Amino acid sequence: MKVEVISIGSELTSGRNLDTNTQWLSRQLQALGFPVRFHTTLADDLDENIAAFRFASERADLVISTGGLGPTQDDLTREVLAAVAGVELTFDQASFDAIQRLFARVGRQMTERNRVQAYFPKRATAIPNPVGTAPGIWMEILKAGVPAVASSKEQGARIQNHTHAVLPTTLIVALPGVPREMRHLFEKQVIQQLLAHFPNRMGVILERKLNTFGLGEAAVEEKVMDLTRRDHVPEVGITASDATISLRIFGTGANQATAEAQIAPIEAIIRERLGSLVFGTGDEELQHAVAHLLSTRLKTVAVAESLTGGLVMNRLCQIPGISAHFLGGCVAYANEAKVQQLGVPAELIAKHGAVSAEVAEAMALGARDRFGSDFAVSTTGIAGPGGATETKPVGLAYIGLASPEGVTSFMVNAFIGHRLDIMNRVAKMALNALRLALGKIELR
Ligand code: AMP
Ligand code: MG
Repeated sequence: MKVEVISIGSELTSGRNLDTNTQWLSRQLQALGFPVRFHTTLADDLDENIAAFRFASERADLVISTGGLGPTQDDLTREVLAAVAGVELTFDQASFDAIQRLFARVGRQMTERNRVQAYFPKRATAIPNPVGTAPGIWMEILKAGVPAVASSKEQGARIQNHTHAVLPTTLIVALPGVPREMRHLFEKQVIQQLLAHFPNRMGVILERKLNTFGLGEAAVEEKVMDLTRRDHVPEVGITASDATISLRIFGTGANQATAEAQIAPIEAIIRERLGSLVFGTGDEELQHAVAHLLSTRLKTVAVAESLTGGLVMNRLCQIPGISAHFLGGCVAYANEAKVQQLGVPAELIAKHGAVSAEVAEAMALGARDRFGSDFAVSTTGIAGPGGATETKPVGLAYIGLASPEGVTSFMVNAFIGHRLDIMNRVAKMALNALRLALGKIELR
């Protein structure tokens, strides 16, 4: 089977708003074993929508759309679906009552326009919407291209008589565009019915995402070439986002357990080959790994930032409960601030420059000393676009790391990209240095 997701709205095609519904729905569908093969985004235009839905119902067995169900004149999905099925729109009293009740509940006057939201293509089913005014629409139609449909009446009769038998049909599920309402309807009112409607879908697809940091995409892939090749089962993919390289393993099976069983041995191989490059799974970022290590090792940390302007601290502070381990830090941008706030010797800056291993180490030592932490990490570098010298190009940075064992520093190159990219990457490199140092501490 094939699934198509259609998102409708001129605010999406114009680039004014980002289409987040398609991503969310595709992930959900994929995980439930519905293979999404097409994404279509449409402006609010009647004829173009009709053409797109016709095309979709020809090539897909399930079409899920979002948007165009509001009360305003640019909301056309009801008309579109009626036209595609060749039926009229009919008034549904139960849906109208529900919309009226919703307005009464929030103490607002219902407008005459809202009445259109209670109209549905004939023989379609309303999907009640308890969190908004736009009900969804569930409608099965004969596949476009199936010949000899003399009239809409006949088409309806044929569907009713043959739904799960001879004639190929396409199921269209239209959901509201407002993301919160769309998600609610999908989770609460659509998933179960979809699973029942397509008992022979391909089963469960599970995705395990392993996040790594420290090597580039090509270098990571080199270690797992045999697994990322095209025809490998399970499929293993590699993606890069801001210097974090992720490996995704897609396990398929009749159920959760068989899909999981396909993933487990491959995950073990990847973890063994990549070792400490792997810092987390799923949506976990470096700060999650650092926070976890700090709490299991019972250690505290302080931060001294120049180049990154607070990004390292910001990332740490995103983790609930970090206050037990992150003591504090400072953004010491000017040379004087490095001297006054962190006790970096002025002569050191004069001799080596603010962007140097010596100053990075002095900053880390200063932060550790002033905040009284076990560890301290520091950043200093050239974010660009100006400020480069012959020997110090844009993107050059030093990360200092102070610990009970002493102090060390790393020169890093974040040459590629613009100012914000460089700042972000160096912040991640600083967290990674801290993660690796914490990882070396034995658990007692
Ligand atoms: P509609 O159902 O077309 O009236 O959409 C209502 C609102 O939901 C729009 O104004 C958008 O702000 C939002 N919306 C619609 N479609 C999407 C989408 N695909 N992704 C994210 N937001 C959307
Ligand atoms: Mg719209």
